Amino acid sequence: MLFMPDGSCHDTKHATERRPSSTPRSLRSLADLRRAGLIDDEAPLQAVAAQYAIAIPPAMQALITDRHDPIGLQVIPDPAEMITAPYENVDPIGDDALSPVPGIVHRYPDRALLKPLLICPVYCRFCFRREHVGPDGGVLSEEQLRIALDWLAGHPQIREVILTGGDPLMLSPRRLSFIINELNNIPHIDIIRIHSRVPVADPALVTQAMLDALETDKAMFLVLHTNNVKELTDLAALSIQSFQRRGIPVLSQTVLLRGVNDSAEALEALYRRILRLRVKPYYLHQLDAAPGTARFRVPVEEGRAILHALRGRISGLAWPTYVIDIPGGYGKVPVDPDYLESDGSVRDINGHRHILSGEALP
Ligand SMILES: *Cc1c(COP(=O)(O)O)cnc(C)c1O
Ligand code: SF4
Repeated sequence: MLFMPDGSCHDTKHATERRPSSTPRSLRSLADLRRAGLIDDEAPLQAVAAQYAIAIPPAMQALITDRHDPIGLQVIPDPAEMITAPYENVDPIGDDALSPVPGIVHRYPDRALLKPLLICPVYCRFCFRREHVGPDGGVLSEEQLRIALDWLAGHPQIREVILTGGDPLMLSPRRLSFIINELNNIPHIDIIRIHSRVPVADPALVTQAMLDALETDKAMFLVLHTNNVKELTDLAALSIQSFQRRGIPVLSQTVLLRGVNDSAEALEALYRRILRLRVKPYYLHQLDAAPGTARFRVPVEEGRAILHALRGRISGLAWPTYVIDIPGGYGKVPVDPDYLESDGSVRDINGHRHILSGEALP
């Protein structure tokens, strides 16, 4: 009723390229990458390009000084993506089995994912949904969206809806506004959470119309995916601010990635910048085992050691929860370093043990 089928079809078709034609476009093919000097030769990458989507928006392209720098690594395809490690899986976190209707993933009692589309501003080479995301995939039809919204309305235990995808901020403001209004009208939903990479990957896409589309009576949170301090440019900062000015608190999630942020120094710089932008770090993710992502893998023990080195060096406000999504659909659990030893003593940040006396502490 709020929009005509033909209108919304038009909307989603244009979801990927809404910038004026005079401004630079995203790089989307091997030929684009070669012309931009990001690859030398297309041939070794044909198989990768046939399997996985490519997009490098102008804001990210501008940050690449070397193809192996922390931005280049995240976005430039690599022949190693065709090598699948024995532990890697096309559905690394078991989402497919937990989908009652298309577009919904329901793992925890009180919250569900709503994935209205599988389009992203950038296609990260380590993406856990890399088998599914892409420029022409996964836009829910009118009918599928209606069924997904009805499923949410029919499950009163759902208190929180997490809009993800793909990237929900790649929707046209009109379709976004339709979805937010529908969620706003479901009484048992208290929280709408948006997971997006748009404010860092392509800040120019954040417009007044998009911000207007997010108006709601519910508690809304934006969780920003950002992995390296270089991504948080002045333009990204303005984009983040535009959400905050609308009363939307912004949190961040980061994937621990080899060559991108795998040191205490890199995470310290990232988290200092994040806090300065009044953003609260939420999760540090252990990399999910999607196919062809082994080059990014940092073992959990190393991740814990990096966090341990960070403890005490940055504000407690910056402290993320280090989580691993258990393969097979068992959910996310914290794997932060332990400070409590099995004998009941605690380690301080320098590794020294202290006995918690039974008299001093319960
Ligand atoms: C990650 C995830 C959530 C959100 O979990 P939080 O710990 O609340 O951030 C919800 N549902 C699914 C299926 C998820 O993968
Ligand atoms: S933005 Fe998120 S969903 Fe999209 S490719 Fe990157 S990691 Fe995957």
